[in-house]
Order: sequence, then C-alpha cells, then structure tokens
Amino acid sequence: MAYQAFYNKYRPQTFEEVVGQKTVVSTLKNAIKDNKIAHAYLFCGPRGTGKTTMARLFAKALNCKEGLGHQCNACDSCIGIMKGEHPDVIEIDAASNSTVDSVRQLIDNISYQPIMSDYKVYIIDEVHNMSNLAFNALLKTLEEPPEFAVFILATTEPQKILPTILSRVQRFDFNKVTEKDLITNMERVLKSENIEFESEALRLIANLSDGGVRDSLSLLDKLVSYAGNHLTVKDVDEMLGLLSLQDEISLINLISAKKTKEVLTLVKEKYESGMDITRLQNDLISIYKDFIIYVTTKEESLMDRLKESEARQLNLSLNEARNCVETLLQSKRDNRNVDDVVSHFQLTLINMMSEKIVTTESVQKSEKKNVDDPGDRKQNALASQAVEIRSRSNGFVSEHTEEKKDSNELIRYTTTDIVKLMYQGIKQDRVAIKSHWDDLEKYFNDDKYSYVAKPLHLSNLSVTTKDVLLVTLRSPIEIEKINKKATQPLLQELIKLCFGKTYRLLPVLEADVASAIAQYKSGGKPESLECTIDFGEENKTSGSTAFMDELLG
Ligand SMILES: [Zn+2]
Repeated sequence: MAYQAFYNKYRPQTFEEVVGQKTVVSTLKNAIKDNKIAHAYLFCGPRGTGKTTMARLFAKALNCKEGLGHQCNACDSCIGIMKGEHPDVIEIDAASNSTVDSVRQLIDNISYQPIMSDYKVYIIDEVHNMSNLAFNALLKTLEEPPEFAVFILATTEPQKILPTILSRVQRFDFNKVTEKDLITNMERVLKSENIEFESEALRLIANLSDGGVRDSLSLLDKLVSYAGNHLTVKDVDEMLGLLSLQDEISLINLISAKKTKEVLTLVKEKYESGMDITRLQNDLISIYKDFIIYVTTKEESLMDRLKESEARQLNLSLNEARNCVETLLQSKRDNRNVDDVVSHFQLTLINMMSEKIVTTESVQKSEKKNVDDPGDRKQNALASQAVEIRSRSNGFVSEHTEEKKDSNELIRYTTTDIVKLMYQGIKQDRVAIKSHWDDLEKYFNDDKYSYVAKPLHLSNLSVTTKDVLLVTLRSPIEIEKINKKATQPLLQELIKLCFGKTYRLLPVLEADVASAIAQYKSGGKPESLECTIDFGEENKTSGSTAFMDELLG
C-alpha cells in the first residue's frame, strides 16, 4: 500500500475525532439535530486548524445514508466524501479557481437536483482569493439558493470578505489548537503506528506547530521518517537544529554574565546549522517566565518547561529576568517588520546584555516611530534598536537632549536617578500619603482634576522624598497621560489638596524601579546624591540607606 501522510491517514472521520474546536463541533451538531441548516457558512481561522476537514464532516453528516447527523463511514455517501469522489460534494480551491468563469459554472449547475444525496454541498477553500467579480456572482447565488444547496466558505483572512457576503453567512471561528490537544493527538497517532516516543519530544513539536494540527502532523511525519521507531528529544533537536534545554540554560547564563562574544557566536553557529530563531526566542521567553514564576511562587507545578533543579541553575536576578522577557517580547513583535531576523535577534541579545538605562522618552519615542512610518518599518526596527543601544552605552540619551526643548514630555530619569531618590526616601511621609491615597477618588468627577486624578490614583506610590513623589506605572502609555509639562501644575495642586503639601510627581515604569533596586543591591551606589532629574532645577538632599533597606524588607 502506498505511503500515506499522517495528516491524511489520521484525518478525523467523525465530529468526535476532531482535535480542539469544541464550540464549532457542538454548534454544528445542534444545528443538524434541530434541523436548522443554513445555506451558507463561513469557517474562519488560522491555517491547519481543521476548516476543510470540518466542512467535509458536515457534508457527511448532511448526506449519510444512515440519516441526517450520522457519519457512518460505510455508506456510499460517506465513502464518496472520504475519497473526494462524491458527486454532490463539490470542493473548489478559490486560490486556483479565482476566475469568474468557474463560479459561473458553479452557478449554472446549481439548480440541478443532487445526484445521490439530499444536499449539494459546495466547499470553497481560501475564499478570500476570489476576485470581486467572482464574489459578486457568488453573492447572487447566496441571495436565493436552491433548497438543497449548502455553501461552506473557508478562509484564513475573514477581513478580506465583502460585508455583503458576511451578512449572508453563519460565521464560525476556528481557534489555534492548544498544545495539550496537539500532544494528545500525536500520542494517538504514534500509538497506532507502534512508535515509541519521549513526551518532551511531542511537546517540542506541538510548540513549533503554533496551534496547527496539520503542521504538527507534518512535522511528526518528517521526524518519524528520520528517527525510526523511537522518537527522542535528541532527534527533534538534531533534525530541527534546536538547542537543548540545557544549552538554552547555558545561553541564558552567558547572557547574564554579559559574555557578548560567546553568545553571538553560539547563535550564529546554530542559525547556520538550521536553527529556527523564532523558536529560540519563544524558548528563552518561556524559560525566563518560568524562572520568574519559580522565584516569586516557588511552585514547580506552575512552571511549563523548567523543573525546580533547572530553575536553580539559572544565574540571574528576578529583575534581570523581567527585563530580558520585556526585551524579547518587544523583539518578537518587531520580527514582522524586519527582513534580517538573525541580525535583529543578535541586536536584541546585545540589548539584553547592555546596562539598562531607560528614559520614558526613549520608550515612547521608539513606539511612536513604529506607528508613524509604516512604510519604513523594516528599516526602522533595526535602526531604532541600534540607536537605543548606542544611547545606552553613552549612559544617557544625549541624542535627544536638543529635541527636549520642544518636547511636551517633562521628566527624564536614569536608573541611577531612581536609586538616588530612593536614598532620600522618607518612610513616615510615604506611610502618611499612602493612607490618604484614596482621597484622590473624590476628584474623579471633578471637572478640573478628573483628567489627572484617575491615572494618578492608578499608580503605585513607591518613594516619598522631601519634595518628590515617585510613583510607578505598568505601561509607558499610562505614564504618558500624566508626564507632561502642561499637567504638572494641575497635578501639584491636586497633590496639595489631597496630601496637604506640594510635591513634584515623578512617574516611572515599574520595571525601571525594579532595575534600580537591582542596581542598589549589586552595590551600584551613585557617586553623588544630587539628583539630576530634569525638574528644571536640582534637587539636593542628603541621603541615607535606611529607606532602601526598609523597601527591600
Ligand atoms: Zn454514511
């Protein structure tokens, strides 16, 4: 017998065998049970999530000789559909039949009664590829379909479907299949093929398949023909050029030790031997994430990839891990906009190994840049990253100093600035202000102050000095709301009203305070305690470490 690919061999033949998509299955089954069959369906969802398979299963349930809703897989109708030879189930690939003619032909033939079943089912795959003319021809049919006709349109890009079509179809959204469901499905396949396997190998494949059943089975197919009767993690690593978990842990430790040369060489070598960069990015993110979970909860059961013993091998601080995850996630988002993924990733790694000095302005700037020049995105993602690295190594964002005069954004700070402020923290004042924090709520509906009262209330008071309130917020967008020259006087008035004294407000990113604490812990104490934050004047107070020690518990 000819070799059959896993994906075809193990294609679900009944609704019950479908992997994932529970909602779609139960809705379709109920529609049949209640005899509420629509004339047109739209199946939307990522590639390889089972849209065409589901369409065939639905056709089977409509036409099975055992009766409506059955999928006996033994009658002429079911067998015809399985073989793709059923005269009343017509599959059209819009990608290759995008001309008006083929749709016209479909329409011309549609009025003929079905030959061997109750329903004529038209499955149109990749329907977004149809030309507008073809779409319009189809629309006419959808307006007045014959009683026995059912259309199933499938697409990965529903946003490209004309609204006039959308209004005439019942839409079903197919989700990416979960890693767990993909693994269960692969286990089923390997068991019936009598192939032994290491569970971790299946997890790796599931992770690479990004929610696609088809991709997972195609990969499994390739790997089995490479590995034979026993599929191991080593096979997956070798064949797909992956780093092993141990290699990845070592890589993270190298990054943490700032061994730039070793890190870049390793990545370059692995890339040249076929390693998938996106895959490595995802792996590193999940390891850092597990590490954060481990440090904050000590719960091994909450971790996806690491065991406790492996988390212990990582030589890094919580803040380092947080910063690295942030940088990696940003880099992943930028991936779409760069041609040279490996250079982009190397720059990301360099970034992770540079000292973290962030200004709110640089964060906002790089975000704006991406929004403003969509045409130049590919160039920009690399360029802006390079600028950021350069400015970090300068110690401050000197390139931006000239632009500052025109800027509406007010406060600029470095990690060292934050450490200095922490030295100046006054515990009693902080406790007193915190106890009045909810007084801000009184101004939520106030015409004058509501605009600043809400974001300020949302922030978390971190440090109180003689004349500065350092508050933390999670995202640059929240900071942007209150970090403006125009809003400072208003904020100061409001602070006076609530807390009885005038303070300047310094809103900073939560992550930046975390780095400041890390810097303090690692002994990176500032040489001078004069605070250089640009409030328009200098802030000179003598400091003490008492507050920091209190803050760190
Ligand atoms: Zn049947």
